[in-house]
Amino acid sequence: AVQNYDVVVIGAGGAGFAAAVEAKSKGANVVLIEKMPTVGGNSLISGAEMNVPNSWVQNKLNIKDDTPARMAADTLKGGDFQGDPEIVGVMTTNALPTAEWLRDTVGVNFEKDNVFQFGGHSRKRALIPEGHTGTEVITKFSALADKMGIPVITNMKAEELVKDKDGRVVAVKAISGGKEYTFNAKGGVVLATGGFGANAQMVKKYNPAIDERFKTTDAPGTTGEALYMAEKAGGQLVNMGYIQTYPICDPISGVIELIADARFDGAILVNQEGKRFVEELERRDVISNAILKQPGAYCYVLWNDNIGKISNTVKIHDTEYKTFTKQGIMHTSDTLKGAADYFHIPYANLKATVDRVSQMAKDGGKDLDFHNRGGLKDLSTGKYYIIKAVPSTHHTMGGLKINTKAEVLDKNGKPIPGLFAAGEVTGTTHGTNRLGGNAYTDIMVFGRIAGDGAAAEAKAR
Ligand code: ADP
Repeated sequence: AVQNYDVVVIGAGGAGFAAAVEAKSKGANVVLIEKMPTVGGNSLISGAEMNVPNSWVQNKLNIKDDTPARMAADTLKGGDFQGDPEIVGVMTTNALPTAEWLRDTVGVNFEKDNVFQFGGHSRKRALIPEGHTGTEVITKFSALADKMGIPVITNMKAEELVKDKDGRVVAVKAISGGKEYTFNAKGGVVLATGGFGANAQMVKKYNPAIDERFKTTDAPGTTGEALYMAEKAGGQLVNMGYIQTYPICDPISGVIELIADARFDGAILVNQEGKRFVEELERRDVISNAILKQPGAYCYVLWNDNIGKISNTVKIHDTEYKTFTKQGIMHTSDTLKGAADYFHIPYANLKATVDRVSQMAKDGGKDLDFHNRGGLKDLSTGKYYIIKAVPSTHHTMGGLKINTKAEVLDKNGKPIPGLFAAGEVTGTTHGTNRLGGNAYTDIMVFGRIAGDGAAAEAKAR
């Protein structure tokens, strides 16, 4: 079957929806195809916080000195200066109008008087969607796409980009239920297929240090074949070896253990020997690597009610608490001995560790062993909470090289006519390390730019 459109968007995550809605609002006839049975990708399961300098929430909270330039400086530094300054500049200057568009046109509700400050950011600048996940954003996008008459076709996997004799991308070949479909794209194709963190083989190929020991926090569709599809069409892949792991994840499923965020308020990390081995507030990659060097390549996060009072994670993440407890990877005990015995950790060692931490806490909190920058907390009394944790693949920084118009560049740095890309499939923004809250800004800003560009080309042809 052959269908004709102005713009074909591949991948129904945040970047794809932004591109489709933008292109449609510019008058283009748009289709959005998605290989999975449901839409949303990683954008759906993400916390979906979005960094925006100078936002209305910052204003309300009296944070008056944030600027796109400040956010750009933080972003470049956070990626060890391997991100593209021009691309980062476009992201940060467009962050505010794009957030306003999400609020006013898409109808996304953001918390009105709270912003997050993720690691590496010099200001509190991340807007938080209602519910603290991407559900709010993707639900609103789905409803809007429906209202605008954009067909969103699930279970439809793009397999090939078709070029005409002049080298322009003019169609997408896709498969659904064993049948082949062709989607002609008069103006352009937007690749918004996400990263490859859930493809263990591909992760290992580009970064051999991240091998089978790692599970993933990612949505199951995050498998990156579309990167090979684009490479076949001449696209240039960059920064593919830069892959971010999240250190504290469920050893069974790989998902992030949000309950263990008690770590930000004083929970300690110990190994199977009951000994600490790393600063609990180090960079994600440093903690991940340290965990892999421990016996069994896992660790435990340990805290007590004294810390729980502050972080309150057991209450906030009640579903996790029940699931992890049932799975046997989390245990609650009135006594430290109970916590140690449950996981066969030598009690004498664990007691020595906890005694030393509590002593340092009493002496003012200064951590003489691992320099925990938050300071140590008293762990001398129960209840105790202990959870087993491993690092998981989280975000792939590498991908297609694009320019500031979201055009995909070939190996000589020249745009491939008719081919645009936005979101985690691109590799130009984050350098070695993506900062928290920057993925959403990136995918929304460049999703819109890509949709706009493809719609303009459809008009011009
Ligand atoms: P981003 O954050 O960049 O928007 P997401 O992971 O949220 O990325 O969304 C990417 C979407 O693209 C996912 O829903 C994924 O299932 C989909 N996808 C990936 N490869 C293909 C493909 N070849 N054809 C159609 N959809 C794809």
